[in-house]
Amino acid sequence: MKTASKVISCILLCALLICHPILGYADPGSVVPDGSNFTIHFIDVGQADAALVLCDDSAMLVDGGNKEDSSLIYTYLRNLSVNHLDYIVCTHPHEDHIGGLPAALNVATVDHALCPVTFYDSNQFEAFATYLERAGVPITVPSPGDSFALGSATVEILGPVYVTDDINNSSIVLKITYGDTSFLFTGDCSFEEEQTILDTGANLQSTVLKVGHHGSASSTNYHFLYEVMPECAVISVGQNNPYGHPTEEALSRLRDADVKVYRTDLQGDVICTSDGTTVSFSVEKNPDADTLTASAVYDAQATPVNYNPEAGIEYVLNTNSHKFHYLECPSVATMKDKNKQYYQGTREEVIAMGYEPCGRCNP
Ligand SMILES: [Zn+2]
Ligand SMILES: [Zn+2]
Repeated sequence: MKTASKVISCILLCALLICHPILGYADPGSVVPDGSNFTIHFIDVGQADAALVLCDDSAMLVDGGNKEDSSLIYTYLRNLSVNHLDYIVCTHPHEDHIGGLPAALNVATVDHALCPVTFYDSNQFEAFATYLERAGVPITVPSPGDSFALGSATVEILGPVYVTDDINNSSIVLKITYGDTSFLFTGDCSFEEEQTILDTGANLQSTVLKVGHHGSASSTNYHFLYEVMPECAVISVGQNNPYGHPTEEALSRLRDADVKVYRTDLQGDVICTSDGTTVSFSVEKNPDADTLTASAVYDAQATPVNYNPEAGIEYVLNTNSHKFHYLECPSVATMKDKNKQYYQGTREEVIAMGYEPCGRCNP
């Protein structure tokens, strides 16, 4: 079926090129309908990844940060009134990517869930899988070449070509095309997976690159970068993280390729919009930060606008059992809606209200 449709599209393409020798290869979504809109929120989740892609009335969440980011993800989606996700993508099941995804499923219903594996031995994966099971949404393992629509944008799966024991190099790599602009998400993909994707001959060229593995030295190889040829790149990375991300090695390659870089550690939430022809960026703070120097000086005074940890975090109260839970607790996934109450506050406040901490998630 797949081969047959490829052959047919090859014949059609050849016929088109023969009939119109000056007609170039058109990207799938090069015409953007009137009134269409496209935005990506690279949410500042510290040393982790989370990006919310909104196109027309459709939404896709690519990773959800650490489990400590659960309240932030919950609040971010709620503030944008995102109560439905067409797709939720776990690029790979490391905690800094999957941890906050269950929280998203407290705010939003979901149609499709993508993950490179259907099982991973961790509490965070268990929570994610339990939420999806409860929602009746199976985990889909996508294959390179798969594509789907997100509003008037098109999403194409480029990787992983192989799932290996190296879970970073099994990251889902996907490219979103909106009009003449495109966006490449690489999870924690390193040189090895970059090479296997290069070997497939896929068209990697993208306007914006979400830099692989938080700017580690073993990601963003020259060959890969020169195929992607991005105008702009976003590095999702935490201030003073213990890994030294983003590394001078990755930044120097981005400098050499003349890429304009945005960074969540220096600039907070990074918001990218496209009109189908050009992309523009806005950042939460420090618009003029030197993003290409590993030891950049930044304005530590600026405070995040979307989330105030001092106001407490979002808890889930069971009004029947009088237990309280973190958003990401698997018990929340199976709690009856009539007993479920969300409460933003401090642990002390919740205890003072007569609730006991859940023994499973230990809030
Ligand atoms: Zn990561
Ligand atoms: Zn990882």
